[in-house]
Amino acid sequence: MGTVYLVGAGPGDPGLLTVKGAECLRQADVVVYDHLAGETLLELAPDECETICVGKRKGERTLEQDEINKLLVKLARQGKTVVRLKGGDPFVFGRGGEEALALADACVPFEIIPGVTAGVSVPAYAGIPVTHRGLSSSVVLVTGHEDPKKAAQDVNWNAIAAVDTIVVYMGRSNLAPIAESLLRAGRDANTPAAAIQWGTTSSQKTVTGNLGNIVEKCLEEQIEAPAIIVVGDVVSLRDRLSWFERKPLFGKRIVITRDRVQAEQTRRELEARGATVLEFPAIRIEPLSDFTELENTIGKLSSFDWVVFTSANGVSHVFARLEERRLDARVFADVKICAIGPATAAEAKRHGILVDCVPERYTTESVADALARFDPQIGQKRVLLLRADIAGDALDEKLRMAGADITKIAVYRIVPETEVPARAAEALRTGEVDIVMFTSSSTVRNFARLTVQAGITVSPRVRFASIGPVTSRTAKEFGYPISWEAKEHTIPSLLDTIISSL
Ligand code: SAH
Repeated sequence: MGTVYLVGAGPGDPGLLTVKGAECLRQADVVVYDHLAGETLLELAPDECETICVGKRKGERTLEQDEINKLLVKLARQGKTVVRLKGGDPFVFGRGGEEALALADACVPFEIIPGVTAGVSVPAYAGIPVTHRGLSSSVVLVTGHEDPKKAAQDVNWNAIAAVDTIVVYMGRSNLAPIAESLLRAGRDANTPAAAIQWGTTSSQKTVTGNLGNIVEKCLEEQIEAPAIIVVGDVVSLRDRLSWFERKPLFGKRIVITRDRVQAEQTRRELEARGATVLEFPAIRIEPLSDFTELENTIGKLSSFDWVVFTSANGVSHVFARLEERRLDARVFADVKICAIGPATAAEAKRHGILVDCVPERYTTESVADALARFDPQIGQKRVLLLRADIAGDALDEKLRMAGADITKIAVYRIVPETEVPARAAEALRTGEVDIVMFTSSSTVRNFARLTVQAGITVSPRVRFASIGPVTSRTAKEFGYPISWEAKEHTIPSLLDTIISSL
C-alpha cells in the first residue's frame, strides 16, 4: 500500500512551497493536482512521475470530489507514492479534510503537509499584515462561496462582522451581499477594504477602498476570481508596506529566447525583479556528435599555455565529457584558464576550477585585451579556445594579431529550436509582451526564423533588448529595433539598463 501526501502548494509563487512539500514531490510516483496549484511545481517531480489534473480548467470537465477521493484510494492501493497537491493549505477551504477522511476510512496511510494559505500570504504580498498591534488582534478566515441571502446559513455574518480583520476566500462573486451583511451587522462603511486577485504571482492586482465602495471598485478594476478580500483597519498599512507590486519589473511580460537550460537562471533573475517570464527558446544547446577532436585536444592540454572558455555551456559540456571518460579538473593542471565572464567563471568553479583571468567587459573582443594585460608574453603563447560550433571569429583574430598561436575547437553545438511554445507565440501576436530579450546573435536569427515559420506577426507594441553590441547589430539586420543594450555583457546589467529607463 502506498502513502498519500496531501501537500499544500502555497498560493501561486512557486517559492512558497514548503521544503517538506518539495521533498514529497521529489519522491512521488503520481501527482494529483488542481489547476490553481500551478504547474511549475510539477517540475520538481521525477521525469517518470505521472501527473493527473483534477482541478478546474476553462471548459474542461472536472472530477467530482468523491471521484477524486476514490482516485487517491485506488492509486495508493496500487502501491504508489501519491502526492495530492492542493492550492494554499490543504485544510483551509481546500476540501483536504474530506480527502483525508476518505483515506482514513479506506485504511490508506496518509500525511498532511500544510501549505502557505492564500488568506494570509496574499494580503502579505499586497503589504497588508492580517494582524497588527493596535489595529487588529483578531482575524477570521471565511468562505464567501455561500450566498448570504440563502435561507439556511452556515456562515454567521453577524459574528464575523465583529472580528478585527475579515479575510474572505472565494468571495468575489458574492461580494455585494457579503458587504451588505457586514454593514447590516453594524460594521462601519468606512472600514478599509482590499481585493487582491492572483496574489503572489506576477499578475497580482490589488484594489483598495472601504466596505461601502469595495464592490464598485472591484467592478471598475475588473477584479475577478481567484481573489482574496480583506476588510479591516490593517488594509490602511498597504500604503506604506506594499513591496511586491513595487518591484522594478513588476507586471512586465518578458520573452526570453535563450535555450531552455540557460533560461532557468535568467528566469530567476527576471522573476526576482517582479517580471512575468515567457519562454520562447530559439536555440537548443546539444553535445557534439563527434568527440574525437575534443578528446584528442584534452589528451595534449599541457602543450597549451592558456585555455579560454567562451561560455558557461562550454564549461559544462567539457566537464560532462570528462566525466564520461572518468577524468576531472586535474586535466587542466598545467594551463592557465580564462573565462569570458562571471557566469562562465562560476560554472568553472562548480567543477573545481578557479579561473586565472576574467576580462572586465564580457565580450569576445575584450578577452584578447585582458589576456594581453594579464600575460604580457601572450604573443609567444599557445591559446586554446573552447567554444560553440558556430562562434564568430572576433576573438581569434584579435589574439592572432597579438601574435598568439591559436587553436579553436567546438565543445558543444547550437542548433535551431523547432518547437514554438503556444503561450509565448500568442502573447507575441497580441502584444501582451513588453520586451523580447536577445542574448546572442543566434537567438536573434532563430527567433526570426521560428516566428516566420509559425506565421507569427510580432505586435508593433513589443520592444527589444540586447545583451551587447554584436547581438544588437544582428537584431537590427533582422528588423528588430533595439531599445536597450546591456552595458556589460550580462543579464543583470541588461536588466539594470532596462530598469533605469522605464
Ligand atoms: N486551500 C486554499 C484555498 C482554496 S479556496 C488556501 O489555503 O489558500 C480557493 C480560493 O482561495 C480562491 O477563490 C481565492 O479566494 C483564494 N486564493 C487562492 N489562491 C489565491 C491567489 N493567488 N490570489 C488570490 N486569491 C487566492
